[in-house]
Amino acid sequence: MDFDVTVVGAGPTGVMLAGELRLHGVRVVVLEREAAPTPVVRALGLHARSIEVLDQRGLLAPFLALGTQYPVGGFAGISKPAPDPLDTAHPYLLGIPQTTTERLLTEHATDLGVEIRRGSELVGLSQDDGGVTAELADGTLVRSRYLVGCDGGRSTVRTLLGVGFPGEPARREWLSAEVELTAPAEQVAAVVTEVRETQKGFGVGPSGEGLYRVVVPAEGVTEDRAVPPTLAEVQQRLRVVAGTDFGVHAARWLSRFGDATRQAERYRTGRVLLAGDAAHVHPPTGGQGLNLGLQDAFNLGWKLAAEVDGWAPDGLLDSYHTERHPVAADVLTTSRAVAELLSTEPGPRAVRRLVSELMDLEEVNRFLVEKVTAIGIRYDFGAAHRLVGRRLRDVALRSGRLYALMHAGRGLLLDQTGRLSVAGWADRVDHVVDVSDEVGAPAALLRPDGHVAWVGDDQQELLSHLPRWFGAAAG
Ligand SMILES: Cc1cc2nc3c(=O)[nH]c(=O)nc-3n(C[C@H](O)[C@H](O)[C@H](O)COP(=O)(O)OP(=O)(O)OC[C@H]3O[C@@H](n4cnc5c(N)ncnc54)[C@H](O)[C@@H]3O)c2cc1C
Repeated sequence: MDFDVTVVGAGPTGVMLAGELRLHGVRVVVLEREAAPTPVVRALGLHARSIEVLDQRGLLAPFLALGTQYPVGGFAGISKPAPDPLDTAHPYLLGIPQTTTERLLTEHATDLGVEIRRGSELVGLSQDDGGVTAELADGTLVRSRYLVGCDGGRSTVRTLLGVGFPGEPARREWLSAEVELTAPAEQVAAVVTEVRETQKGFGVGPSGEGLYRVVVPAEGVTEDRAVPPTLAEVQQRLRVVAGTDFGVHAARWLSRFGDATRQAERYRTGRVLLAGDAAHVHPPTGGQGLNLGLQDAFNLGWKLAAEVDGWAPDGLLDSYHTERHPVAADVLTTSRAVAELLSTEPGPRAVRRLVSELMDLEEVNRFLVEKVTAIGIRYDFGAAHRLVGRRLRDVALRSGRLYALMHAGRGLLLDQTGRLSVAGWADRVDHVVDVSDEVGAPAALLRPDGHVAWVGDDQQELLSHLPRWFGAAAG
C-alpha cells in the first residue's frame, strides 16, 4: 500500500483535509492536476465558523495578519448590523483572497509532511476490499486504503463512481477577470453604482496594487466553463452591460462561472468519499462554497484518521454523510432564496422588503447570521440538551482558552466537576479539569471538530457515550 489516503485535488478542501489527516499521522498524498497554483481569485472571505476551525488548530495567526476584518451582518445584500453579542469569539468576516487561503493551508499541510504531487491528473479509479487504486493520466497507479475526491464541481472522482449529482444546471453565466483600467476611479464607481441598480451580478472593484476585479454577466451559457473567456469578450460584455469597457487591459487572469446548483446523492461509496465542491455546487452569492468545503474537511478528517488508525466505532465514517449532507442541502436552499432576493423584478423586490423588515426582529436577524456564518449548525446526535450537536465557542477557562487545548485534533473532556475520568480512552481523549462561566454544563465531551457529544456530570453516562465517538476502551 503506497498511502493510507489519497486526496484528489489541492484546492482549499483537499489541502485542509490533508492537513487534518496528517495531524493524526495518516500517510497522505494529494494528487493535483495543475502544475502550479491558480492565480484566479474566487472566494474573498472566511465566515466565523471557518475562522474558528482555523483557531482550533492554531492556524489563525497568519490568516489574521494577511486578512481584513469586516463587521458581520446582513443577508442577501440587505445590510443590518449583527445582533450583539454573537455566540463566537470571532464576530467578523475575514476578507482574504482564496489564493492566500490555499497557500497558507498548503504550507501547513506540507509542513506536517503531506506530499503534494502536482501535474497528476486522476483519470481512473477502482476499489476492492483492501483499498483503492487511482490511475493517473500518465499511467501511474497510486494505491491507498481510502481516497477522497476534493476535485471540484466537475469532479472526475464523482463521475467515475457514478454518483448522481441532481439539481439545476447553470441558467446564467458571468465572466470575471483581474485587470488594469484606464478609466479614473471616480468614473468607475459612479457607473458601477448606476448599473447595479438593475444588475446585481455586475461589479468592478479595486483588488489592490492598481488592479481591478471585474464581474460581468455573459451573453449566454457556454458548454465548457473551464475554458476562460478572452479579454475581448470581457470588453464587449462591459460595453453592452455598462456602456463602457473602462479601458480594461493587461488581464492577470480571466475566468467564467455559472449558477448551477447541485448536490451529490451520497458522500461515501465504499472506500471513496467526496468533499467540497465535488459534493455540492451553488452560485457564489453569499460566499459559502469554500467555507463549506473547509468544514466538510474538518468533519471528515478525524473520522477517516480514526478508520485508518483502527479505532473508529461502527458508523463513524458514515456519519460524515449524515452530518454534512443536510448542511450543504441547507446552504443550497439558502443560496436559491438569495438568488431570488437579488432579482430586481417587482415580486422579489417586495419579498426583499419584507425580509428586510423581518430582519429588524432580533431573533430573525440572529437566525440568519448564524446560518450564514455556520456557527448555528447543530448535528442531530439524538439528545435534547441545547448544546449537544452544536460546536462549543472558544470559551474562556481559568487557565486560558478552550481552542488552545484543541490544536492536536483529539477529543476533549472539559470537566468542571473534577470527578470524571476518561481512563481507557486517554490515548484519544484529553481530560481537562478547569472552570468556565461560559459553558453552561458541568462537563462537556467534545469531538475533535469541537462539536459537543455529551454534557452532564455522571461518570456512567459518560462511559456510555465515549464508545459512540471514540471506539472501544483500550485494554
Ligand atoms: C466567482 C466565485 C466567487 C466565489 N466566492 C466565494 C466566497 O466569497 N466564499 C466562499 O466560501 N466561496 C466562494 N466561492 C466558491 C469557492 O471558490 C469554491 O467553493 C471552492 O474553491 C471549493 O474548493 P474545493 O477545494 O472543493 O474545489 P476547487 O477549488 O475547485 O479545487 C479542486 C482542485 O481539484 C483539481 N482537480 C480537478 N480534477 C482533478 C483530477 N481529475 N485530478 C487531479 N486534480 C484535479 C483542480 O485543479 C483543483 O485544484 C466562489 C466561487 C466563484 C466561482
